[in-house]
Amino acid sequence: PVPSGPYRRVLLKISGEALMGSQNYGIDMETAERIAGEVGQAVNAGYELCLVIGGGNIFRGLSAAAKGMDRAAADYMGMLATIMNALAMQTALERSGVPTRVQSAIPMMTICEPYIRRRAIRHMEKGRVVIFAAGTGNPFFTTDTAAALRAAEMGCEALFKGTQVDGVYDDDPRKNPNAKRFESLDYIDVLAKDLKVMDASAVTLMRDNQIPIVVFNILETGGLANVLDGKGVSTVVGK
Ligand code: UDP
Repeated sequence: PVPSGPYRRVLLKISGEALMGSQNYGIDMETAERIAGEVGQAVNAGYELCLVIGGGNIFRGLSAAAKGMDRAAADYMGMLATIMNALAMQTALERSGVPTRVQSAIPMMTICEPYIRRRAIRHMEKGRVVIFAAGTGNPFFTTDTAAALRAAEMGCEALFKGTQVDGVYDDDPRKNPNAKRFESLDYIDVLAKDLKVMDASAVTLMRDNQIPIVVFNILETGGLANVLDGKGVSTVVGK
């Protein structure tokens, strides 16, 4: 099928926390399968998708470093956490009938492919969802930056950031009922107002490459496909 939305190839960033469901740690497979259903729906509609998943539900380098661990070692542990999430997401996606490949920035040949850019593009052209694991492979970075980097490398037309709310607000909508959602924003607004969309290096990379960031609710059923089709609720950064 030919997708009806403005972007055909999209990178979807999901935070590790999105996989926790109502738990406060780790992976809730039911939630992972729900997200997989969203991705499957989009793939069936003809969109080419790749995924970057965070690791914050398992391990965060910065928090461990604050407690005295070596920062680089802690960050490597955080990257290993993203590989666990990637494998869980792969299981969930394949249960929904979506063919996937996991590619890790830290080669781990017995469990997944190493990151090879042209091979990843080929997978997507064949309708496979590529899950990029281990972030950028470098300490002192985040999976937000990894998402921006891979979006640029893969020639994605947009970076979709799946969150728990349906866009970027001027205040926390879960605490303030009068909080207002932005329809669209400039990259520079996000940076200057320090709006919590993605970290600054990710936003800067997207600005330099003129790739829009679309913030939407990943937990709403049919939300991803709707936003891809240009019908759903979201905030678009850098139109
Ligand atoms: N990380 C890293 N380099 C990267 C990506 C991730 O060092 O390129 C580490 C970092 O310690 C981070 C952890 O992996 O805290 C988990 O990723 P992140 O915090 O971005 O996950 P999210 O908040 O999206 O769940």
